[in-house]
Amino acid sequence: MSEGKVAVVTGGSRGIGAAIALKLAADGATVAVHYGRDAAAAEEIVKKIEHAGGNAFAIQADLADTEGPAALWAAFDEKSRERGMDGKFDILVNNAGVTVRGVIEETDPAEFDRQLVINVRSPFFVTKLGLERQNDGGRIINISSGATRIALTDIIGYSATKGAIDAFTLTLAKHLGPRKITVNAVAPGIIDTDLNAAWLRGNDAAQQSAAELSALGRVGQPSDVAEVVGFLASDASGWVTGQVIDATGGSAL
Ligand code: NDP
Repeated sequence: MSEGKVAVVTGGSRGIGAAIALKLAADGATVAVHYGRDAAAAEEIVKKIEHAGGNAFAIQADLADTEGPAALWAAFDEKSRERGMDGKFDILVNNAGVTVRGVIEETDPAEFDRQLVINVRSPFFVTKLGLERQNDGGRIINISSGATRIALTDIIGYSATKGAIDAFTLTLAKHLGPRKITVNAVAPGIIDTDLNAAWLRGNDAAQQSAAELSALGRVGQPSDVAEVVGFLASDASGWVTGQVIDATGGSAL
């Protein structure tokens, strides 16, 4: 449970991030639902949380922009002040991310750089700028990918960004140990979200092969990942830090 805690979920407006925002709110946290472009989607998640009796507010920042991390915290500071909060938080979930598809020969440098900013630079600096606002004893949870363990040649640039997240998680966990802040990553397998819509949705053959990749025989859902994040955000996970938790449904075992 995360009763009385404040959580910030990047990319909390859709997909896995939305499921995480709903889970943490259901567990009692006040949730800052961050989004990039889709304000309506973020407001819908805020409304869902409020309808269920929870607390949430939306914050905007473009994390493809190098000024995005500072903009995210400026929005957080403003909204939390408006709500009479103390401007502190306990749980940070670095979830926002993009996938640029293509084998190495097809990789465009500008697209690679954009992906690097959203998937690595932004979570790094969102975390850095958040540290002065984060309560000791808090939680940082980074969303990695099963693609750091499983060689998926058509998302090689993406896999490299998530490998960076795993190394960041390990090293930051040691650095923040004295503050009793735990840092872990969750590595999802193939999850049915907009990120995979172009190749997965409405394609029976792709659905079947994605399901067969998992030992459990189905495509993952956002809530599968949110449950793991819920545990890592809770007091129950206090003795776990510096780990990458595989949440791929046993893919490619
Ligand atoms: P979605 O595409 O469904 O959602 C992405 C979220 O990130 C949205 O809330 C979006 O907000 C936000 N976002 C994207 N780009 C930016 C940006 N430039 N600035 C700010 N926010 C941005 O993705 P998923 O839910 O599928 O993925 C979430 C995380 O899980 C990612 O880190 C992804 O790499 C990881 N993951 C996903 C897997 C999958 O199979 N789906 C598997 C393994 C890992 P907005 O729409 O407002 O821009």
